[in-house]
Formats: sequence, structure tokens, C-alpha cells
Amino acid sequence: MARKVIIIGSGPAGYTAALYAARANLNPLMIDGGAGRGQELLGAGGQLMITTEVENYPGFEHGIQGPELMERMRKQVQRFGTEIIEDLVTKIDLSQRPFKVWVNDDLYEARTVIVTTGASAKWIGLPEERPVWEGGLGGAGVSACATCDGFFFRGKVVAVVGGGDTAMEEAIYLTNHATKVYVIHRRDTLRASKIMQERAQRNPKIEFIWNSAVEKVHDPERKRLSSLTLRNLATNTVSDLEVQGLFVAIGHKPNTDLFAGQLELDESGYIATHHDVRTNVYGVYAAGDVQDHEYRQAVSAAGSGCMAAIQAERFLETEGEDGANRVEW
Ligand code: NAP
Repeated sequence: MARKVIIIGSGPAGYTAALYAARANLNPLMIDGGAGRGQELLGAGGQLMITTEVENYPGFEHGIQGPELMERMRKQVQRFGTEIIEDLVTKIDLSQRPFKVWVNDDLYEARTVIVTTGASAKWIGLPEERPVWEGGLGGAGVSACATCDGFFFRGKVVAVVGGGDTAMEEAIYLTNHATKVYVIHRRDTLRASKIMQERAQRNPKIEFIWNSAVEKVHDPERKRLSSLTLRNLATNTVSDLEVQGLFVAIGHKPNTDLFAGQLELDESGYIATHHDVRTNVYGVYAAGDVQDHEYRQAVSAAGSGCMAAIQAERFLETEGEDGANRVEW
């Protein structure tokens, strides 16, 4: 018999959806992403597993380590009976109901599906840039989220890599904390919108370094960032830049490959949602970073996970046990 709800993914959105679904007696099954797929997917717990201190999740007045927060969320959903499969979904069929979800050769069927597969920050690709799990600098200096980590760079000098709106936004935000913010961009023109470009260029704390790429991050052995080796791509010359923080802002990739051709995606590949968390398929919801490229916060992801579970519950309730009252939106 088909399950009432399957939740795909286990970041703050997934766990919150599971919590609400479990407490509404929907007996949710969560497929948590397992160990992910190397650098491409993060696996169970999502982006917070590679974050150090989280100071902006309400309820933890002294902050909490990202992995510990995720572990607590996991235990909380298990306490209410969420069943968790520690693996990746390998195939999905949302073309008819019940929906079909495969984990390798095992098939699971469900009347509703909540997609919370998140997004992955893009990294430059330097071996020493990758945080925590590869023994890199992590919270000691390399980040992909100024809102999360900017606070740790009060009074310090930092660099942002990228030339898009995110890089401008991160650079401007970081001027609230840092004494100086370098923006390192690989070309001599920005991709960011005019208004964001102007705002960044007007800010006296921001200095642009054009036509340049970060070639090396120093010094992973000491687990602290002290400087960057830059290559000027126009002149092919190399120089050193002293900074204590590096913010990589070269874009995010939503983890939506599985749903291409089945769910409506926006032009950047995020799941398009209508009326908050509903996808274009009746009974399928999307919550968290997989559908949100604006806020990207643990707490906003958790909020949308809650909304998805409540919507799924109402959908099931309206449809009835036998699915006689078809819900359309
Ligand atoms: P984006 O627009 O794709 O820009 C990525 C930037 O990173 C580009 O400047 C790109 O350089 C650079 N880049 C990419 N790969 C790189 C690499 N390997 N090494 C060095 N540089 C690299 O991404 P985004 O800034 O995250 O924005 C994503 C979307 O969200 C956009 O549509 C944006 O407008 C929107 N957004 C809007 C706001 C806002 O309105 N407030 C804020 C944030 C984001 P090139 O330019 O050379 O390609």
C-alpha cells in the first residue's frame, strides 16, 4: 500500500517536514541522501554538515555547531516515528499516482512527496578550499555564506570571489564586519545587476581585483587563512594578498537533476513553486533551498518544510483515504 508521504532530503526543510508529518500521524518515510555523491551532493544533513558555528538559528543563545544541530533534528524526527532510509533516491516517477520513488532496486510508493534536496554551493575547485570534511580551512577562513559567517570576521580583511549579484551582496554585507573587502573577479566586467554593481563600487571598504583567479589558499596546515595567491589572467602574473577570510560566491546549484522533465523548474534550475510550496504536480511539494535562491537560511528552509507538511496533510485529508476527492490547484 502506498505511503502517505515520502520526504526526499534531510536538511532543515526535510527534518521539519518530517517532524510535522510524523506528529500529524502521516508515518513519513524520509530518504536522507545517505553519504551523498562526493563533492557534488552533500548527503544526509545537507549544507549545515559543512558549517561550523551557527549563531542565527533561534533557540541557541550561544550558537550551535551545524552538524550537532542536524543530529538533534534527526533525533527529534525519529522520536516521533519517522522512518529513515540512509541512501539516495536513484529514480522517481511523478507522472501518475501513487508516486514512485526508487532507491536502487527498492520501490516505494506514496500519495504525496515533499522534495527537500537543497542546493550545493559551487566551489572554485582548490584542494585546500573545501571545508571540514576534507580537513581544509572550514570555519577558520573559507565560507560560501557571508550571512552565516561574516560575523566571525569583525575587524578583519576578507576577500569575495565572484562577479554576480551574490558576490556583490556578500561583499556589501561583509563591510558591516570587516575593515576591508576585496572582490576578486575573473573578468574585467561584472555579471551583477547595475544597481548592485553601483552599490558595491560606491562602498569605500570594497576594492575590486579584476581579471584574477585564486590559485592557492594559505595556510591549511595551520587551519587558518592568512593569504591567497592570485593569478592575473590578463598578464599571467602572480601575487599574494593578505586576507583572513575567503567567501566563495560563484553561485549555487540546486539539486534537481532527479526531477528534470517531471517538475517545473525555473530558469536557474530551482523547482518552481506556486502558493508557497506547491509544485506543478498535485501532491508534490518542494521546500528549502531546492526552491529558494533568495533567502537560503536554515530557519527559512525549516519554515517552508513545516508549510509543505501542513499542505500535504490537508491534501490527504481533502482527498480522503480512497482518493475519491481529487485535489487540484
Ligand atoms: P551568477 O549570477 O551565476 O554569478 C556567478 C559569478 O561567479 C559570475 O560572475 C562568474 O563569473 C563567477 N564564477 C563562476 N564560476 C567561477 C569560477 N569557477 N571561478 C571564479 N569565478 C566564477 O550567480 P549568483 O551571483 O549566485 O546569482 C544567481 C542568481 O541569483 C542570479 O540570477 C542573480 O541575479 C540572483 N541573485 C539576486 C540577488 C539580488 O537581486 N539581490 C542576490 C543574489 C542573487 P563570470 O561573470 O565570468 O561568468
